[in-house]
Amino acid sequence: MAVGPLLHADADAFFASVVLRSRPELVAVPMAVVAHVFVASANYPARALGVTGGMLADDALRQHPGLVLVDVPRAEVEEAGDALFDLFHECARAVEPGSVEEAFLDVGASDWDAAVAAGHDLRRRAAAELGLPVSVGVGRTKLMAKLASRATKPDGLHVIGPEREAELRTALPLGEVWGVGAATRDRLANLGVQRLGDLDDVPRALLQQACGTAMARRLWRIRDGTDDATVRTVEARSVISAEGATSGYGRADLSTADLVASCAVRACRRAARAGLVAAGLVLTLRAEGGSPVVVKRSLAEATSSPEDVLPVARDLVATALADEVATVRVSLTGLLPAGLVQQTLF
Ligand SMILES: [Mg+2]
Repeated sequence: MAVGPLLHADADAFFASVVLRSRPELVAVPMAVVAHVFVASANYPARALGVTGGMLADDALRQHPGLVLVDVPRAEVEEAGDALFDLFHECARAVEPGSVEEAFLDVGASDWDAAVAAGHDLRRRAAAELGLPVSVGVGRTKLMAKLASRATKPDGLHVIGPEREAELRTALPLGEVWGVGAATRDRLANLGVQRLGDLDDVPRALLQQACGTAMARRLWRIRDGTDDATVRTVEARSVISAEGATSGYGRADLSTADLVASCAVRACRRAARAGLVAAGLVLTLRAEGGSPVVVKRSLAEATSSPEDVLPVARDLVATALADEVATVRVSLTGLLPAGLVQQTLF
C-alpha cells in the first residue's frame, strides 16, 4: 500500500493535563501527579524547576516546597485516554497505540499538506472536545513522526520533511532512536558509532556481534531510510477494561448503572476495534476509600457487541450489593480474535 506521511500524536504531560482540566487554578503553579510514591507526571511549570517523572514525590517536595502534589485520578485518566483514542480513530483510518496517550496515525494523507491539515484538526479537536493538549509530529516513517512530535512539545505540530529527514539519517545521535538502550549505546560507542552516519564505517558482522541481528538490521534500515512506515492496528491481549468515575470532567454525575453502561460500551468499542470478542464480563465497583466489590459472569456467546454485553452488565449491577460507588471498572475477559471464533463455530 502506498502510504503518504503519517502522524505521531502524543498528549502532553498527560496525567497532569487530565488533572488541570478540573483544577485550572493549578495551570501556572508547579504541580506533580503522584502514583504510589513516585511522580508520574509533572506540569510544565514543575518541569521548569527540574521535577520529572520517576522522582520520589517526597524528594521533589523537599527540593521544591511550593510544589503541589495530586494523587493520580485513575478513573478520570482512563476515561480521558479512551476519549483520546476515540478521537484518534475518528481522525485516522489506522491507529497504532504506543501507550495510553500516544499513537501513530495513518490519516490516509496522500501528501504533506493533507497530513499537516489532519494534524492541526486533531490538535484543535483534542483541545476543544477533551481539554487536552496533544502534540503532533508529521513524518514519512514512524521514527521521523515520533522525532517530530518530540521536537515540538509542548502543544505544537512539527513536520520532518524530506530534507530534514535526510540530515537526520546522518546526524541523529543513537540515543535519540527510540528502543536503543544505554547498554547498546555503550557497545556501539566502543565501535565509534555515535550517530547514524557512523554506521557506514562499521563492518556488518561487527555491528551484528555488538548489538544483535535484529537491532543491527533496524539500525541499517533507519540509516537507509527503509525503516518502519506501517501503522499496525492489531492488539493482542486477553482482557480489555474501561474505567470511569461517577463524577467527571464536563458532565453531570452518573448513576452506577449508567456509568457501568458507558464503561461497557467503551470496552466493547476497544475490543471491536482490536478485532476481539469476549467470553466473560467482570465488574469492579469501588466506593471512595472502600474495598472493591467484584462480580462476574460468562457471556452466552463470545461477543464485543454492546447489544449483547449491556443486558448482562445491567443484570450484574443489580446483583452487586455496593453503595456509594465512586469508580467502576468493566472488564471484557477471555478475549479471542473474532475471526478465530467464527472459524471454530463453522
Ligand atoms: Mg505524552
